[in-house]
Formats: sequence, C-alpha cells, structure tokens
Amino acid sequence: MAKQEDLFKNVVSHAKEYGFIFPSSEIYDGLSAVYDYAQNGVELKKNIREYWWKAMVQMHENIVGLDAAILMHPTTWKASGHVDAFNDPLIDNKDSKKRYRADVLIEDYAEKLNLKAKKEIEKARERFGASFDEEQYKTTNPRVMEYLSKEREILERMGRSLGSGDLEDVKNLIEELEIADPETGSRNWTDVKQFNLMFGTKLGASAENAMDLYLRPETAQGIFVNFLNVQKTGRMKVPFGIAQTGKAFRNEIVARQFIFRMREFEQMEMQFFVKPGEEMKWYEYWKETRLNWHLSLGLGRQNYRFHDHEKLAHYANAAADIEFNFPFGFKELEGIHSRTDFDLKAHEQYSGKKLQYFDTETNSNYVPYVVETSVGLDRMFLAVFATSLQEETLEDGSTRTVLRLPSVLAPTKAAVLPLVKKDGLPEVAQKIIEDLKWDFNVAYDEKDAVGRRYRRQDALGTPFCITVDHQTLEDDTVTIRHRDSMAQDRVKISDLRQIINDEVSVRNWLMKM
Ligand code: ATP
Repeated sequence: MAKQEDLFKNVVSHAKEYGFIFPSSEIYDGLSAVYDYAQNGVELKKNIREYWWKAMVQMHENIVGLDAAILMHPTTWKASGHVDAFNDPLIDNKDSKKRYRADVLIEDYAEKLNLKAKKEIEKARERFGASFDEEQYKTTNPRVMEYLSKEREILERMGRSLGSGDLEDVKNLIEELEIADPETGSRNWTDVKQFNLMFGTKLGASAENAMDLYLRPETAQGIFVNFLNVQKTGRMKVPFGIAQTGKAFRNEIVARQFIFRMREFEQMEMQFFVKPGEEMKWYEYWKETRLNWHLSLGLGRQNYRFHDHEKLAHYANAAADIEFNFPFGFKELEGIHSRTDFDLKAHEQYSGKKLQYFDTETNSNYVPYVVETSVGLDRMFLAVFATSLQEETLEDGSTRTVLRLPSVLAPTKAAVLPLVKKDGLPEVAQKIIEDLKWDFNVAYDEKDAVGRRYRRQDALGTPFCITVDHQTLEDDTVTIRHRDSMAQDRVKISDLRQIINDEVSVRNWLMKM
C-alpha cells in the first residue's frame, strides 16, 4: 500500500516538475480539485482528445461531431433529472468540520469487512494448498460467512435507505456501525443531507431579471437537445451517433486523487441513436469497441476490466464501466450506458417539441433509443500518464526515469540536439527542425551534456532524440535514439520524417484496434 501511495505522489510531482499539470491559481495556494494543464500537459491532453475524435468521428461515417455551449436553458436540467436527482448524501463531522459522502463512509466500512474475509481466505489457501476450494470455504467457514453477510447486509440497507430517501436511516447506520471520521476518529456527526452537485450561476445583468442557470454537469444533454437539428441537417439515418468533447462541472463533495475527481473536468461523449429493441446489440458493440480503443494504446490488458452495474440509474436499462488500474486501484474510467428513450422523451415532454425520427422504410415515427459512451479526458490522461511513468535500472546500475507514453500521444515527437554548441551544428539542427515542424511537434535543446538532455527527453516522454554531430556536416546523417530501447541508429536526414511518422501516426496506432 505504501508503495502505491509513493507511486501516486511521484506521478503528481512529476506532472508538476515537467510542466504537465499545475494546481489552479497556485500563487493563491490553489483551488481545491481544480487543475491547470501546462505546456506539455496541454499537448498530451489534446492528443488524447484527437485520438478519441479520430476513432469515433473520422472513422465512422455515421457519427458526426458537435460543440454545444456549456450554458443551456435551465429547463434542460429539470428534464434530464439533474435538478431533482443529481445528489450525493453528505455528512459533516461536528468536531473536525470535515465533510464526507455518507455513502462512501459506509462503503469503506463494508470494504474493510470484505478485506477481512479475503485475508481469511488467503490464509486458508496457504494452509490447504492445491486442494483448496474457495467457493466451498466461503460458504462454510463461519467467520468468513459472517464478514461477507455483514458486508452484504450493510450495503443492501444503505441502498434501500438511499433509494427511498430515508436519510435518517443512513445516519443511524453510520452510528450503529460506529464509523468515525477517518482523519480524526471523532464520531460526532451531523444529520445526513442531500447535496446537489450542479454549480449554479446567473444570466443577465440586473438582479430582478437574472435567470438561474447551471454549468453543465455532463456534455450529453447538449447532444440530446440538438438531436433533431443534427439528424435533419446532416440527413442522418438511424443508427447514427453524435460525438462531443468539452468541459463539465460538478461540485464534488470530496474531491481527492488529483485529476481523477475534479470539479471542472472534460468529457468525451458519444450518443448513439438506435431503433428501439436494437439497443442491447449496440450496447454490446460499443462495450467491445471502446475496450479495443483503450487496448490499442498498449497499456496492458491486465489494467482494464468491466464492471457491470447492478443498480441502474433512473434512465438506464443496462450500464457498465470500463475500470482502469489507477495507482490507487481499479476505478471507473469510462461508462457505457444504454439510456433507453428516457432523455429524448423527457425533452419532448418539457419542451413540447417532437424529438422523433421518421423511418422512411416503415413510414412511421419513433423516439430512438440511445447507447452512450462517456469517458473522462482527465481520467484518460491520468491512466496514460501514471502507467507510463517508470523508474528503470540500467545495465550499469544507474537508474533513469522514463515516461513511456504511447508515442502517438507524446507531447513532443522528437528533440533535435546539436552535440556541441558550435562548429555550425546548432544551425544544422535548426534546419532539421524547420522541416520537421510542418508535421510534428519538435523541440530543440542545446543545454548540458547530451546524456543529460536524453534523460530530460525520456522524462518528458519524447519518443525520439535526433543528434547532430560532426559527421552530419560530412554526410547528412544523424543519430536517432529511441526512448524505450535507448538504441541509436545512424540515418539520413532525409529519412527522418518517414521514420518518425511510422512510429507516431494515428493510422498505425488505430489499426491495432
Ligand atoms: P464517479 O462514479 O467516479 O463519480 P460517474 O459515474 O458519476 O463517475 P459519469 O457521470 O458516468 O461518471 O461520467 C462519465 C465519465 O466522466 C466518467 O467515467 C469519468 O471518466 C468522468 N468523470 C465523472 N466525474 C468526474 C470528475 N469529477 N472528475 C473527472 N472526471 C470525471
């Protein structure tokens, strides 16, 4: 555990030190759970967004893009259910004045019971060896049975109480279980309250005429309200999709874990409109397609798993998360939801406008069903960045920090380094840059010994270092060093563009899907 925490601290400090992510308004001591993307971070983030956009929009004839405004008519959020149901139950500790999500406190307690059961099971596995039957042990060992049934009982009771809005019982549960403030140990709790996660704001100059608005908590609703506009003007035929990337805002009660849970974040969402009755086929299709997109980046199959939802949101008839193995364990990276016709029907009802598709084959109208794929861009960033950050021991016993980013996503594709700052080498290096920069983000660096410059580029995730030396002046060749293998080849300057392109082109990476 300590090791995982260290790893995570390392990720946060590397992101800052190498110009990927800064705390927001840091000179004023930052703003909780809000971050700024720095010079390298903005490139990595843009490349992830583009990789998604190309896979979803460019590669699908029947998916088009949209960029809806962050501010929307407030009735949107009545129709979507966010005004009434986008709540988390919060509880304050009266002594420490710390605020928690009541459901998370209870879930953490239940998780501890689960861990205790797991520990017993592991002990037994060691004792019994090859003949150990885990299922049998779980259903016969009294201690394990007690832990697991207590866990189930607690979670079921919480689910029931939250479902029926019985917040008093949620508090009773916290008190009965003697759950204490994780930071101070105090059990002096307030009542549990529902807390709406939407940020409110006002439109209009004068106080009397101002209209209450919300910053959108998801990008999806911008797609739903434009469904018919896009369908008609794009002459789209069901099944078709609308994709959008953009900022979303949630006033999260507890926002820790760096960019995993932010108050201002970016989503990449696609709503796929299908004929009613065909939604399960498309739900399975998108589950598989989205997982394959993630796998194409090469971070390792073992780092992904599906988590099918048992408890469904009010709008869904099936839902699954793609979870990723973050430095703090498996957590949601992307959601795939079969949203039925809930959203379009609700907007029809609240707006009084028809949001239906006319099927020319059957000469009839219907409200399409929707399958949604929704991934957090910042969570993708964290997944890619944390997994790529590695400490390596080299053959000579020294260590190097290398950010093994998928090269298609790397902020800078190549650094051009003159071996020395004289003899005309910087001029040749600049000429190479002048040519390569039409196609790639490239950097120039002439400071320090070349070995140190290589290490800096390794830590920035740059796939190639191109070194200009005295031989270059004679035969127009340079050395090209590969970040991951550290192998160096002598190549012609005129071949550089092709070599880099083969390694970083979206085409070659997406082909792996
Ligand atoms: P969680 O259960 O982690 O709060 P969620 O189920 O509320 O997430 P969705 O509403 O399904 O999330 O949003 C889709 C995606 O948006 C998530 O899979 C996640 O990647 C991203 N996301 C949601 N909330 C945040 C946040 N506060 N910060 C960063 N990304 C977020």
